[in-house]
Amino acid sequence: FDGEYETDGALDPSLIVGVCAVADPELELRGERTRRDAAMGGASERYYAEPPRIERGWGALLIETRGRAYLDMVNNVTAIGHSHPRLADSVARQLNLLNTNSRFLYGLYADFTSRLLEHSPDPALDVVIPVSSGSEANDLALRLAQVATGRKMIVAAREGYHGWTMASDAVSTSAFDNPHAADSRPDWVDIVSAPNEYRGRFRGEGAAERYVAELRERLAELAAAGRAPAAFISEPVLGNAGGVIPPAGYLAGAYAAIREAGGVAIADEVQVGYGRLGSHFWGSELAGAVPDIITVAKAAGNAFPLGAVITKREIVDALREEGMFFSSSGGAPASMAAGLAVLDVIRDEGLQENARVVGEHLIEKLRRLGERHPMLGEVHGSGLYLGVELVRDRATLEPATEATREVCERLLAHGVIMQATSERQNVLKVKPPMTLTIAQADVFVAALDRVMSEVESLNL
Ligand code: PLP
Repeated sequence: FDGEYETDGALDPSLIVGVCAVADPELELRGERTRRDAAMGGASERYYAEPPRIERGWGALLIETRGRAYLDMVNNVTAIGHSHPRLADSVARQLNLLNTNSRFLYGLYADFTSRLLEHSPDPALDVVIPVSSGSEANDLALRLAQVATGRKMIVAAREGYHGWTMASDAVSTSAFDNPHAADSRPDWVDIVSAPNEYRGRFRGEGAAERYVAELRERLAELAAAGRAPAAFISEPVLGNAGGVIPPAGYLAGAYAAIREAGGVAIADEVQVGYGRLGSHFWGSELAGAVPDIITVAKAAGNAFPLGAVITKREIVDALREEGMFFSSSGGAPASMAAGLAVLDVIRDEGLQENARVVGEHLIEKLRRLGERHPMLGEVHGSGLYLGVELVRDRATLEPATEATREVCERLLAHGVIMQATSERQNVLKVKPPMTLTIAQADVFVAALDRVMSEVESLNL
């Protein structure tokens, strides 16, 4: 692809809607958006000072109004690629046929939920509740756990992000955290260590057992204080920490601990699920652990507003007995059409296998870059769910936050969209559409190689 693409008109910036509605679209693009992304840790302020005005997409490419193509290396939402024609056709057909709320029984509802359940890790997890986002899925999961156990307390692992609604924000601690959360975290939330073997509290041999022991101790303390937990929630692979895989045995141990304490295990698979890991469909599957509740979104609708909670009948029944059990647009026909098309494309185009093959190639090439670039501390993750951790010193692991910011900016000049992630903002988030080709992976690695040489000479 030579970077040139015909476009048929200028983008109307008022069509771009950010976190807050502002009257002046220019302000939205250059002011509010810049501050928001800096605060949320997307990248540096300069990175977004002149954001690409994206008009259309194709596979892993995003095309700007001026015709320039960017390789999107961060978009874990659009798992099947940007603007996939099967998704567009399927949603359009459904909108023309039946566009209503989720109150009525229509075939697609059953089709989507049963297709998603084909991926259920356990026959006991046989209920799907469609919702409209990852935040909503996690809020509902937390509520289900609370109602099913008759308890309030939720224990969450540090370095997780679960959403921006009240409950999911309350259990989040990543860089995307609300800056006031530490002060305002509700008393029904308790945070334990992130099982980050690279730079966490426990490392090396026995790390998994020590993290689990810490969790067990905390659960016992909470129970003794009359605050026995309803649930433990975590990202099975620490996505917002940069694709860090917890030490083997950790998740199974954590789930056993929460169950013994009378609570339920919630796996937030919003980022990691849907085959992105290559080797497994679910992050919890990679860890060899089966949760009681799974939450999905992002890839589920390929940026169409669709999420879901997958759980057990007895857990859902507890909430049903309480009465109100309804979402107006969660599970609406067009969302179901989108969800089904995504699952079809992942299967028919072999995208999980592609994530495995291209991911392995990418990991090997990135690790080889590490032989020449001392700032490359570690390559985390699996498949197309990777994090490249940049450090100032491999011995002390001092995070190379400034350099990471500079790398992101310079990659953009090379036509590669990249973002920093983790609490320290020193991990390159490598989570492209699962359609990424070997050639595109090589373009990214070559650009990163050049940019890292430039940035190393700046001594940031
Ligand atoms: N959970 C995880 C692990 C996420 O990464 C995100 C989004 O970044 C969410 C939940 C929230 O999902 P949404 O943005 O669809 O509300």
